[in-house]
Amino acid sequence: MRSDSAQPVIEGVLFDIDDTLVDLETAMGRTLHHIGAERLAHLSEAEWTQYKRLYTSDPHGYYDQFLAGKLSFTEQRIRRAKHAQASFIAEPLEGVAAARWNHAYESTLPLHFEPYEDVSPVLDELDRLRIPYGAVSNNVHDYQRAKLDRAGLERVAALVGIDAVGVAKPDPAIFLEGARQLGTDPARTLYVGDNPIVDAVGADAAGLVGVWLDRSGALGDGFEGRRITGLDGVLRIVQGIR
Ligand SMILES: [Mg+2]
Repeated sequence: MRSDSAQPVIEGVLFDIDDTLVDLETAMGRTLHHIGAERLAHLSEAEWTQYKRLYTSDPHGYYDQFLAGKLSFTEQRIRRAKHAQASFIAEPLEGVAAARWNHAYESTLPLHFEPYEDVSPVLDELDRLRIPYGAVSNNVHDYQRAKLDRAGLERVAALVGIDAVGVAKPDPAIFLEGARQLGTDPARTLYVGDNPIVDAVGADAAGLVGVWLDRSGALGDGFEGRRITGLDGVLRIVQGIR
């Protein structure tokens, strides 16, 4: 057994789902294009980029309001769309138009759920090493189960959603429930996610080994925790290689 006090032996790996295992940002962008083709036909390419960015980045924190129980899942989605569209369309997204938009979005988005290319190789290697893995996500279990399955990730069997323990990340309870489901010691369980604060710092605070997946590789300056720029970095940590 390795005995490096700074790097514990890793017994299990938990992943965030959105923009960590599943490329949600691309799926959202494709969906917005698909369902907005008519109303937003006048947008230039640069404006499309801006519109999608406004929607996915959620500058007003409507998704956080959903996590806090202040908005329904559908309401947060419509508010994000309404805000993003306000810069480009005079007529606000409300009433029947909003309901229609939401229906189109909801039925189109799952068609675009895909895993990142580096997901399968890392899961294959974890299987080979007999290291259990799972997911802990800030959305409800059934929605995320369907998302993983749509993305071809049925093999990620352990899945903790916000409805499992009644709290969202970075509350320690949701991370600890993930380790409990894997049957691993939290202090020897990696948690990997694309949000440095909610995922990496949050998991560290819960007593797990938090890792920030910084896929862009551009924002790492100043972050003092563990950081990887692709999921292959998980294997280096698991194998104790720096
Ligand atoms: Mg994420």
